[in-house]
Amino acid sequence: MSDLDSFLEDGGPRVIRKECSTALSPSRLPGLDLALNPYVQCSHACVYCYAPYIMRVPPLLWGTNVQAKVNITRLLSRELLRKKGVIGLGTVTDPYQPAEEEMNLTRKCLEEMVHASASVSILTKSDLVTRDIDLLLRMASAEVGISLNTSVDERAAIFEPGSPPPSRRLRAVRALVDSGIGTYVFLGPVIPTITDHDLDGLVNSLIETRVRSVMIDRLNLRPGMKERMASIMAERSPSTLDEFLSSVDDDRFYDDLIAFLKRSLTDGGIVVVDAF
Ligand code: SF4
Repeated sequence: MSDLDSFLEDGGPRVIRKECSTALSPSRLPGLDLALNPYVQCSHACVYCYAPYIMRVPPLLWGTNVQAKVNITRLLSRELLRKKGVIGLGTVTDPYQPAEEEMNLTRKCLEEMVHASASVSILTKSDLVTRDIDLLLRMASAEVGISLNTSVDERAAIFEPGSPPPSRRLRAVRALVDSGIGTYVFLGPVIPTITDHDLDGLVNSLIETRVRSVMIDRLNLRPGMKERMASIMAERSPSTLDEFLSSVDDDRFYDDLIAFLKRSLTDGGIVVVDAF
């Protein structure tokens, strides 16, 4: 059993309380000026996550030691007086991972941002974001992206063992849309045998949410990622391993699949953009 499976079976990762020295850091991501990450690591533990490469954490250990920045709101209230611009909430962690249910750091940060009339852009895989709709409606400007790459819960669980299933994420998209908050779906990373498992179901589910825009991202393989994904698929879905391996680094697979998604979603009235 891997470290990941062990901690998920034990009820989740250890959450360590830590002090940080800065709340807001500059961001080079498109559309963002600043980044705010209330946690270090992420127990959603997606196997394809790029954050461990940025944070210099061994990918196999990503999510096993989540750190909660317990003093972040105090620092944020001071920094908001001099640092201005769109704040990306959760650029190297998920701000609504399970630890947030208990720690409420993301919610407290949003409260500070409401007081400062700040603008926020959130990306998450969790329907817990709907808890904070009341605050998001009071922000100067708020945008929420919900990330998913299939509508089939069982397929998502292969590479996203700690995340809420896509069925819950799709309901969250609908709730956000209905609330009037600017909402988009981050459809990615596109993964063979996951995203193409039930393409019609995926397209229809997205159209049913009434979301206005979808951002599509392909899988960017980092060193060792293909091997790690193959080993996990061999364990959790051996019957699709060969198909996965034959397409995972085939550009034509991604080009064709993304072209199909763009056509179908556009026909359904959704604006489709490429990620980054
Ligand atoms: S939810 Fe995002 S930050 Fe968390 S493990 Fe998955 S990809 Fe990484």
